Amino acid sequence: MPALQKDVASLVEERQDELLQILSDLIRFRTVSPPARNTVEAQQYVEAFLKKTGFETTSWDVFPNDPNVVGVKKGIDSAHYNSLIMNGHIDVADVGDISVWTVPPFELTKKDGFLYGRGTSDMKGALAVGLFAVKLLHDMDITLKGDLQIQSVIGEEAGEAGTLSCTEKGYTADFALVIDGSDLHIQGQGGVITGWITVKSKEVFHDAMRMKMIHAGGGIKGASAIEKMMKIIEGLQELERVWAVTKQYAGFLPGTNTINPAVIEGGRHAAFVADECRLWITVHFYPNETYQSVIEEIEHHLQCIAMADPWLREHPLYFKWGGKSMIEERGEIFPALELSRDHQAIRLLEQVHQQVMAAPAVVGMSKTVTDAGWLGEAGIPTAIYGPGKLEEAHAIDEKLAMKDLLDFTKTLVQFIPAWCNTKKANPNKNNRF
Ligand SMILES: [Zn+2]
Repeated sequence: MPALQKDVASLVEERQDELLQILSDLIRFRTVSPPARNTVEAQQYVEAFLKKTGFETTSWDVFPNDPNVVGVKKGIDSAHYNSLIMNGHIDVADVGDISVWTVPPFELTKKDGFLYGRGTSDMKGALAVGLFAVKLLHDMDITLKGDLQIQSVIGEEAGEAGTLSCTEKGYTADFALVIDGSDLHIQGQGGVITGWITVKSKEVFHDAMRMKMIHAGGGIKGASAIEKMMKIIEGLQELERVWAVTKQYAGFLPGTNTINPAVIEGGRHAAFVADECRLWITVHFYPNETYQSVIEEIEHHLQCIAMADPWLREHPLYFKWGGKSMIEERGEIFPALELSRDHQAIRLLEQVHQQVMAAPAVVGMSKTVTDAGWLGEAGIPTAIYGPGKLEEAHAIDEKLAMKDLLDFTKTLVQFIPAWCNTKKANPNKNNRF
C-alpha cells in the first residue's frame, strides 16, 4: 500500500468520530424541501466550517432563507494545475409521517454498522465527508496546486436550480464531482424536463350551447378544451411509443424515456363547456439528448396533430417548459449528463476507487437525476460519485452503511490532491474562480 494511502486510511479510521459529529450536526438542521426556505442555519454552519479550513467563501440567496454557499481554496499554481468542484445539496426530502419512523429523523442514530437519519444517504452523509475531507487535507498540510471549490447548494429536492445559480455566476473548474448518492458508482444520468401544454378556446360557451357545437346544423364551430386535450394525450402516447422503440442508450432499460401525463386541470364549472385545459407532463430523456431537442420534438409532433384538427388549427397550443422551482413555478429541468469514460479525471477516480475498495469501480448511468446535468451543461466535465443507495433516498428510516461513508472519505482524500496536483491538459482554459 503506498504511504499516503496507508496514512489516509488509518487517519480516517482514527478520526471517524469527527466525521460523525459533522454528520450529526448537519442532520439536526431541518432542511426539508418542500416547504424549503429553511437552510440558512445549515448553510452558515457549512460556510463557517469552510472558512476555518482555509476557504474563501461566498453565499447568496437563491430564494429567501435558502442561500447557496461556495468556498474556494486557491491552489499555489492555479494557472497550470487542475481545479475541482465538489457539489452537494443541503436540502433533504420530506420525512412524511414521523410516527412510522423507528428512529428520530433529525438525529443521527448509529446501529448495526448503519447510520440512520434523514439525509444520511441523500446526501448529508456525502456533504459531511466533503467537509471532513478538506479538514483532513488541511490538517495534514497537503498543498494543492490547483483550486478546490465546494458548492453547498439548495433546492435539489424540489427542482430548484441552486447549482444552475452557481454556474450562472461563472463558477467553473476542470472537473466537477457531484457527490450525491450513487452507491459509490461513477455515473452520468438521463435528463428530466416538465412542461405545461394548454388548449384554450377564444370563447366561453354555456353548457346549453354544446348541442349546437357538436350536432349537424348547429352552426357553432366551438370545442371543449378537455376533449381536444384527449387528442394531445393520445399524441403524446404515440410519441412515447416511437421513442421507446427507436431510441436507446447503454445503461438504461429500453423505454426509460417516458412522457408522463402527470396532472390535468381544466374547465370552469359544470354549467359551461370547458374553455381551457392544462396538462402537466414529465419527460425523461437520454444522456445524448438535450431538453431543447426533446422540447422541439414534442412541440413539432403536437403541432402536426393540431394542424390536422379543424378547431385546434385555429386555436394554437401553448407550451411552458421547465422552470427553476417546483414550488414557485411548478416546473423543473434536470439536464442529462454524458460520461466521458476516457476523461483524465474519471480514469483517476477509477484508479483511486480501485485502490481503496480493492475492486474496480462500477461506471454507468444513474437511475435518477441529480444536479450534475447543470455542471455538464456549463461545459464542465462532471461525474456523480457518492455514498448512499437510491432506495434509501426519501425513505422512512433512511440509512447509510458506515463502511461506505469511510470508504468514500478515503477515496476523496486521495482523489482531491491527486487531481489538483495534476497539470492542466489545457492551461489556457479560463480559470475565473
Ligand atoms: Zn440528492
